[in-house]
Amino acid sequence: KFSYQHRLGFGSGNPTGKIPLGLKRKGLRIVVTGGAGFVGSHLVDRLIARGDSVIVVDNFFTGRKENVMHHFGNPNFELIRHDVVEPLLLEVDQIYHLACPASPTNVVGTLNMLGLAKRVGSRFLLTSTSEVYGDPLQHPQKETYWGNVNPIGVRSCYDEGKRTAETLTMDYHRGAGVEVRIARIFNTYGPRMCIDDGRVVSNFVAQALRKEPLTVYGDGKQTRSFQYVSDLVEGLMRLMEGEHVGPFNLGNPGEFTMLELAEVVQETIDPNAKIEFRPNTEDDPHKRKPDIGRAKELLGWEPKVSLRKGLPLMVSDFRQRIFGDHKEGGT
Ligand code: NAD
Ligand code: UDP
Ligand code: UDP
Repeated sequence: KFSYQHRLGFGSGNPTGKIPLGLKRKGLRIVVTGGAGFVGSHLVDRLIARGDSVIVVDNFFTGRKENVMHHFGNPNFELIRHDVVEPLLLEVDQIYHLACPASPTNVVGTLNMLGLAKRVGSRFLLTSTSEVYGDPLQHPQKETYWGNVNPIGVRSCYDEGKRTAETLTMDYHRGAGVEVRIARIFNTYGPRMCIDDGRVVSNFVAQALRKEPLTVYGDGKQTRSFQYVSDLVEGLMRLMEGEHVGPFNLGNPGEFTMLELAEVVQETIDPNAKIEFRPNTEDDPHKRKPDIGRAKELLGWEPKVSLRKGLPLMVSDFRQRIFGDHKEGGT
């Protein structure tokens, strides 16, 4: 196989895994919607570092200015406070569409960004989610699996919103010829993650630091696969630059029960941290683990940072933010 990625040096023949400078297009104009958020802000750092011009579009619903403040004053960086539910006129080469609250507005925002991509002929990348698989009946999940989502469940707004966003993305691709890319992101953690939005990794880390018990929902035997944010950003960039539409699972296949995760947090932060069981939420997926064969083969991508390596990198950021020595937005 001699794919575009291999020619660019993205394949297994490239031991550093870095995008080779000089071979890529230079000075792209790139929009990152949701760029003040957790994943978006790390992506922005990478794009700015490689010399592109980045426009962040964010309404600060969950994102924070602190996450991107270190780029203020850089002529290659622009921050626009804007809700993507409203139309937006810009001239750009690529759109990384990350903006998404857990509500149906992600459908309208996605429609607008696809309209923008169609008008200016830019490439569009959707950050979809492993939640499109719902409570999966196939394990691990391959991209060919259609999923098992309860359309009227408590979680369905997010799941079905992303499923619709994928549908719209493919319709604009087929109907209007927009160049699109779809990433299905599995649970991701790292510095700058929201502290209080209830995700399990941020909860456990914050609880252990605050000397509170770790709250395990249900029996704690449900599984997730946790990916460090730098691995995800590398995958998103390879997907955007490559020639394949996807969808691609981007996640770390290392699978942990919530009790095992609690143990890793104990080892990393506080061996004496207590565990407290709480009732689980309705429709909670029992298992989740990506099959990343497709991304490995076609994008030359696989995660590099294990949970035990990545967790400490997040802990130091959380420590600073929780105990407030005013250093926000660390990497
Ligand atoms: P995040 O909440 O930190 O980032 C989302 C950003 O979008 C925030 O800065 C928020 O202010 C902004 N935003 C929300 N609604 C907006 C709107 N209407 N207009 C403009 N900006 C808006 O979340 P994240 O973890 O960085 O997630 C980024 C993307 O990746 C999302 O699309 C999410 O669904 C997807 N994803 C993330 C994970 C994960 O584990 N972190 C897993 C699967 C999928
Ligand atoms: N849109 C936008 N910016 C643009 C072009 C379109 O926000 O540069 C929005 C537009 O307002 C519309 C959506 O994207 O709500 C879909 O646009 P499209 O042209 O595909 O659909 P139409 O307007 O023809 O229904
Ligand atoms: N969870 C938990 N304790 C918490 C928060 C979440 O045990 O304090 C569980 C939750 O029930 C789910 C898993 O951790 O089974 C992952 O939850 P999260 O919201 O982080 O991700 P998602 O369910 O979206 O994959």
